[in-house]
Amino acid sequence: MGSVIILGTGGVGSVVAHKCAQLKDIFTEITLANRSLPKCEALAKELPVPVKVEQVDADHVDQVVTLLEKIKPDLVINVALPYQDLAIMDACLKTGVHYLDTANYEPPDVAKFEYHWQWAYRERFEKAGLMALLGSGFDPGVTNVFTAWAEKHHFDEITELDIIDCNAGDHGHAFATNFNPEINIREVTAKGRFYEKGQWTETNPLSVKCSYDFPEGIGAKDIYLMYHEELESLSQNYPTLNRARFWMTFSESYLKHLEVLQNVGMTRIDAVEYEGQSIIPLQFLKAVLPDPGSLGSRTKGKTCIGCLVRGKKDGKNKAVYIYNICDHEEAFKEVQSQAVSYTTGVPAMIGAKMMLENKWKKAGVYNMEEFDPDPFMEDLNQHGLPWKVVTYDETCIPNDLI
Ligand code: NDP
Repeated sequence: MGSVIILGTGGVGSVVAHKCAQLKDIFTEITLANRSLPKCEALAKELPVPVKVEQVDADHVDQVVTLLEKIKPDLVINVALPYQDLAIMDACLKTGVHYLDTANYEPPDVAKFEYHWQWAYRERFEKAGLMALLGSGFDPGVTNVFTAWAEKHHFDEITELDIIDCNAGDHGHAFATNFNPEINIREVTAKGRFYEKGQWTETNPLSVKCSYDFPEGIGAKDIYLMYHEELESLSQNYPTLNRARFWMTFSESYLKHLEVLQNVGMTRIDAVEYEGQSIIPLQFLKAVLPDPGSLGSRTKGKTCIGCLVRGKKDGKNKAVYIYNICDHEEAFKEVQSQAVSYTTGVPAMIGAKMMLENKWKKAGVYNMEEFDPDPFMEDLNQHGLPWKVVTYDETCIPNDLI
């Protein structure tokens, strides 16, 4: 059906490659491309189908153009880092290739999670007859689709949204991040922000917390209010939303280490001089932390990511909670990765599948909630991320989180 380049062969890229390789009729040609070639070659050896491997530094548009002209893929699945998004989108425009990613563009020197840089490409993609699908991971990604599905099937209008991300897994390290450490720490140390009545309110990093009782044996955990990029597109695409918030769990050990690292300056993203060299402390920290790709074999426990949506149906108040539970050890058994990479890589594959099958196909730049959620929701059940929904009628709406 189509040829894809999986650009970035880290934790998430590895899962995308394994899942695409399971669907030979859809992903008829797969090319793995990465800044360091040995990583591609090692991954290629794990896969059950032959794939091409290519070296590319995607910070440089010309290198990506050369790659796309050589391989002539239908679609680039960008699972490198958010810094490369714009260069890859530019290269796609120059060569007539569709585009998909899992994280919004971030300028390297300032940790901002905003879509305006990529939304500015809407007209150019539209004119070129190309599609860019933004944020096809779990959060953003599945959380946008869960919201769209709830709105379509359960409500006349949705008014409140809480996205709640729990990683109840344990990798046994005192401190490690579940995906790229630099991106993870930039996100977690940023100010919190939530949307209410048309306005954004900022909170100090990790200063707002409450407890949430997760289903299926995970139990009660502290959740912390953060800003997450899907809040921006969802609050625009669902104008009936009065409030939208994002929450995440962290272990005490993670928070203790993070506080110390912040206090001693190791999470800084500005350059410092060290023995005549200019280094960025957070990038140096990444070099000494465990590689998230190495956590798979030692992580036990589950993730639970879901959306608690409130709104009105037939004039009555209603709420639904839609969630997926993913087991770290099961994910490792299937694709040799832990559940955080798995829950990101599977939706990236499904987003690509939607595009190649023309189930989701429109020229322009889109967020996930702008398409029919039904075929995507079906595929989540088919391809390793089954979901459940709990509905609450007017008599049993859950209390507000705080
Ligand atoms: P990793 O650090 O494990 O992998 C990143 C890969 O990108 C590495 O193989 C790296 O290559 C490659 N890369 C980095 N820079 C370049 C470049 N200039 N040119 C080509 N390749 C490059 O990260 P993850 O796999 O954990 O994360 C991948 C993406 O997924 C990130 O954007 C992250 O934000 C996103 N993500 C999204 C989630 C969601 O739910 N939406 C959740 C988790 C992650 P090298 O080894 O040579 O450095």
